[in-house]
Amino acid sequence: MMSELKLLTDKILEFRNERDWQKFHNPKDLALSLSLEASELLETFQWKKSEEAVDKNFDEMKDELADIFIYTLLFANETGIDLRKSVEQKLQKNNEKYPVEKAYGKNTKYTEF
Ligand SMILES: [Mg+2]
Repeated sequence: MMSELKLLTDKILEFRNERDWQKFHNPKDLALSLSLEASELLETFQWKKSEEAVDKNFDEMKDELADIFIYTLLFANETGIDLRKSVEQKLQKNNEKYPVEKAYGKNTKYTEF
């Protein structure tokens, strides 16, 4: 069975390849673009309170979040990273760094426990 991530990635690659953009998609430029899109998401919050920004800019936020995800999938594709596996492994690491009994209800960094 084809995973949802694979289906989405294939759609994005089709869009990209139809435009002959694959030649621009090296890991460095994809990482850079991912970071720029994350900044565009941040920009929707500039000078506003959190709730106010979500109220006013929800549609823009959806677009920027999609851009971030698109670049995430492109980066994973380009570097051969299995995103599902990486997320599972990172959650496991986070679980070890932030055991519930130490981290519950706290926003402290693990080095400060
Ligand atoms: Mg954008």
